Amino acid sequence: MGLMRYLCEAAWLGGTDVARDVLVTVEGDRIGAVEAGARMPRTGVALSGLTLPGFANVHSHAFHRALRGRTERPGSFWTWRDEMYEVAAALDPGSYQRLARAAYAEMVLAGFTVVGEFHYLHHGAGGRPYEDPNAMGSAILSAAGDAGIRMTLLDACYLERAPGQAVAGVQERFSDGSAASWASRAGALAQVVEGRRGARIGAGVHSLRAVPPPAVEAVASWAAERRAPLHVHVSEQPAENDEVAAAYGASPTALLASVGALGPRTTAVHATHLGAADIDAMGACGTTVCMCPTTERFLADGIGPARALADEGCPLVLGTDCHAIVDPFEEMRALELDERLVSRRRGRFAAGTLLEAASSAGYEALGWPEGGRLAPGALADLVTVDLGSVRLAGAGLDHVLERVVFAATAADVHHVVAGGRAVVEGGRHLLVGDVPAQLASAIGALEAPAASAKPLR
Ligand SMILES: [Zn+2]
Repeated sequence: MGLMRYLCEAAWLGGTDVARDVLVTVEGDRIGAVEAGARMPRTGVALSGLTLPGFANVHSHAFHRALRGRTERPGSFWTWRDEMYEVAAALDPGSYQRLARAAYAEMVLAGFTVVGEFHYLHHGAGGRPYEDPNAMGSAILSAAGDAGIRMTLLDACYLERAPGQAVAGVQERFSDGSAASWASRAGALAQVVEGRRGARIGAGVHSLRAVPPPAVEAVASWAAERRAPLHVHVSEQPAENDEVAAAYGASPTALLASVGALGPRTTAVHATHLGAADIDAMGACGTTVCMCPTTERFLADGIGPARALADEGCPLVLGTDCHAIVDPFEEMRALELDERLVSRRRGRFAAGTLLEAASSAGYEALGWPEGGRLAPGALADLVTVDLGSVRLAGAGLDHVLERVVFAATAADVHHVVAGGRAVVEGGRHLLVGDVPAQLASAIGALEAPAASAKPLR
């Protein structure tokens, strides 16, 4: 890849700063220069609309995309989980790769250029490892490569169905049996990841329900040795807090702190039901919090203390998690709008702050600190929003950040550059082609009974 010039009609350069006529020069997969108010050269790619850095989808379970629309009935998080497990039971490396490729392509079309895949579906039926114990991890890595999205593969440890109880049913596919076995398999996967462009490894602890504190400590040191990110589901549901308190006499956050698993390389996912001491503990050491607002409302989780966490020093980032909706703008504005519902106050997060949560802070949380900004030296991941849509039409660039954050949808993204190459043009995915057709076929294949009856090695 040589030199490319992008002639942006307008671009967000951080904070509240929207500049006109921004010339972005890209060398290979990096931004070489950013010049605002530039005299545009004759050659280059004109990007009309507002260009933003690519968005980070910090928390994803790709296979949940197959559930969209299928779980709308009375129930709770836990009844939804039973339905999610049915999909998990049906997947094998081939079907997972096809489904994930289409799901990641949907993300790219929406403007996401990096995804944190929180991966715990490791083994075959009954927990029997595949011939390649990382066949599932490799399948989603390939899927991300095909879809043109960067990936941090967060290999998650899952050992118990609840404190002191053995895994059962489909959960057997999640468990490596011990933290040591997890570390050895994840170590092999880290080597696979090293050989791939656009991929990095991270560690996951499914939750304090599913991983006892000594094993959490082992996973945290595995991540620390590699200077890799560590992501953990924390306090998504009150029942999770209750079970953990009954077993260990402390909150999930306090247990994480007690084994040294909080800190700037750690991301707590959800953090919905926290006590004041939990918020203090996370803030004091700069733990990042990934909120997944569309999922948290979808699953009836509740609304997390976003403003309080930010005030205590936690960077906030965003993820689409169960993919009930894949839309970075919807996640961004939900952070503010949910706060309004809870606090009955407006203006809790400015549009520029919400954009930072979706871009630079998200990249950082996924172990790509050089991404998520339009600046020299940054990864050349660019997303352009069409300001001419009926949703965004307004007075030129006046209040354009607020219009985009509070009214744009994924459908307004019309151009995406990832690692210096165009992956979406005119709203069309250049690498995957017909994304809706691929989603339909990948999801349709899972509904065939043969998919779950297939013998596994
Ligand atoms: Zn999750």
